[in-house]
Amino acid sequence: MKRISFVNKLTIWYSFILLIIAIGSMTLMYEMAKQSSRDAATAVLVEQVSDAESRIVSSGRDFEYSSGIKYYSSNVYVSVYDEGGSLIEGRRPASVSGQISFADGEYQSVQDSDGGSWYIYDSLCAVDGRKLWIRGITSAGLNRVLHGITWKTSALIMIALLVSALVIGRLIAVRSIKPVRDVVATVEEIRRSGDLSKRVEAPKGDDIGQLAENFNSLFDKVEQMMETEKKFTSDISHELKTPLAVIASQSEYALEDEAYRAKALKVINTEAMRMSEMISRLRLLAGSDSDNLRLNREVINLSDILSSIAEQQALIGSEAGVTVTSDIESGVMVNADITMLIRAILNLIDNGIKYAGEGSCIVIGLHTEGSFAVCSVSDDGPGISADSIDRIWDRFYREDLSRSSRESWGLGLSMVKAIVEAHGGSVSVSSAPGEGSTFTIRLEREEQEHD
Ligand code: ADP
Repeated sequence: MKRISFVNKLTIWYSFILLIIAIGSMTLMYEMAKQSSRDAATAVLVEQVSDAESRIVSSGRDFEYSSGIKYYSSNVYVSVYDEGGSLIEGRRPASVSGQISFADGEYQSVQDSDGGSWYIYDSLCAVDGRKLWIRGITSAGLNRVLHGITWKTSALIMIALLVSALVIGRLIAVRSIKPVRDVVATVEEIRRSGDLSKRVEAPKGDDIGQLAENFNSLFDKVEQMMETEKKFTSDISHELKTPLAVIASQSEYALEDEAYRAKALKVINTEAMRMSEMISRLRLLAGSDSDNLRLNREVINLSDILSSIAEQQALIGSEAGVTVTSDIESGVMVNADITMLIRAILNLIDNGIKYAGEGSCIVIGLHTEGSFAVCSVSDDGPGISADSIDRIWDRFYREDLSRSSRESWGLGLSMVKAIVEAHGGSVSVSSAPGEGSTFTIRLEREEQEHD
């Protein structure tokens, strides 16, 4: 089916509405003109009949000879009848029947034998105890002519108005729709060329400008997503290159040198485990991207969990020469996925041990602040530079590549953020170079343990 353009649809709609308004106004004007010309004709009719009546009354019984009634004046015929309806004196149009019954003080609209229209007005008056009918007749035909002229004139004016409204309206519609057409053309151009850097231009401040702005911010978002996607893919391939190269070379050695085989297999196993961990983190992050991070939540005693983590990490830390202590408020409950939450907290402690290094101190804290449980991991390590502090949450971001070991992927903090946010909480960092770092997780806390 052929598509009707927006301008044509608009033209059809407002033409239809204009047509209805025009027909309505014409009918109204015609009816008003008709009414006023009828009123004018009947007013003259009444005037002439009243004039005759006053002359009859003033001339008394002799009116038949000396009343001076105007029997035809201002297009009105006047005639006088006795009470029985017999004509005494006067004039009436030849084509109008003399048999029309009398009605005191009322108008009658009658047709004559030639099809002409007339108004009749009767008045009953008494002269010296004698009752007389005075009948006035005037043509309605003249009014017809006037009606016809009025009708034609208003029809012509309406048609002229309608045509000019159509032409002007269409011009306005075409002009106003132009920015929308420009928006559509640019969107089509972007779709065809795939060039996401193009932007839609439209006058600001109106609805179309708003539409263009919305399109532009949509393109910004899509462009940014594509960029992230590209960077993400290139980062993954870059990160996988080294372990795969290690696996390839180690397997070659293992094949060639039997004595070296066990050592090579150990290296291959370590690399495979590392890649598996990376893929597990990436899967978790992909799930968080689509708001699909599945949590098995339950009410847990975070104080108990953190205390046992602190104990266990104190042992691991001491092997690396790091002191791990804790300052934990007891009985703090949260509704969380215990595995995920432990994974996030361990990652922060692990970073502390890794980046603060030998001789440093790590404090694991937990306290409540209103309805929140606030868990912190502080270290007195090198801290994070101002340049990096906002970027450490980005995937594959590592502050100092020379400093980071092959143990780091730059995925840990993005994973921590994804886990905490999936719980409806927030994570933040406060750090300065040389002054250590404190990572803080805030979660809504539960009042008490449910049974
Ligand atoms: P990685 O796997 O590299 O540890 P993360 O996402 O956990 O990845 O950390 C991103 C970067 O943030 C790290 O490369 C490091 O530069 C910085 N960072 C994280 N935690 C600390 C910390 N406790 N002290 C100093 N820098 C840190």
